[in-house]
Amino acid sequence: MIKLHNLTKIYNGQAVLNNIELEIKKGEIVVILGPSGTGKSTLLRCLNLLETPEEGTLDIDDFWINLARHTDKEAIALRKRTSFVFQNYALFANKTARDNIAEGLITVWKRPRQEARAEALRILADIGLADKADAYPSSLSGGQQQRVGIGRAMASHAKVMLFDEPTSALDPEWVEEVLGLMKKLALAHQTMVVVTHELGFARDVADRVIFMDGGRIVEQGPPAKLLTNPTDPRTRSFLRKVL
Ligand code: ATP
Ligand code: MG
Repeated sequence: MIKLHNLTKIYNGQAVLNNIELEIKKGEIVVILGPSGTGKSTLLRCLNLLETPEEGTLDIDDFWINLARHTDKEAIALRKRTSFVFQNYALFANKTARDNIAEGLITVWKRPRQEARAEALRILADIGLADKADAYPSSLSGGQQQRVGIGRAMASHAKVMLFDEPTSALDPEWVEEVLGLMKKLALAHQTMVVVTHELGFARDVADRVIFMDGGRIVEQGPPAKLLTNPTDPRTRSFLRKVL
């Protein structure tokens, strides 16, 4: 169980996240929707301490952290429990697919290099890229690069995986292979929070859809309800625009 309490983030004197409360069950797939500039990325980034909020605490099972005031050691402990998949993949250009996946195991988890590289090979096989172990990102398609990005996030066996628009930088032809891998993770009961505009993925895979606007959670519910019969006018107006 994950419990986020009172998350508040301020940029230039303006709150972009206002007292967000969020509980996520083990194995739950949560999709976050909302207009641009609403704070979706900021929310995810605070959960991994890529940004430090002004307020907010987070429980992940037996681990508790004050996101606003924490030690470096606590931040590392958090990053062992949450992993992040970036919109633009954020791979190391000078490392092979295999070493991109092994890197976090070596630096964060302090696993011996050989063991980490062996684990990376197993993950590459799992994500259908065994034959690309020695390829550099520049020689991979967008879809393959993002699968490596997901493989890197899988390597840490995090309690929760955070995806920030994982398919929006991809050419349309690569979107399905990345969504397919995410579906596979969902079927394996990986807890996930996914910011995406892929409503098909939300409908088919999410247990819960959250609609955010203006740094707040406006409305949430099962996809069948939220996507077809939302109650808040802001949700309706947003869905009319994206459908
Ligand atoms: P999009 O759908 O376009 O990705 P988003 O919902 O992810 O939008 P955020 O990127 O979280 O929105 O941004 C929320 C607000 O915070 C925006 O008004 C943005 O301009 C502001 N913001 C984000 N990052 C910073 C930053 N580093 N410095 C100042 N303001 C920021
Ligand atoms: Mg964003």
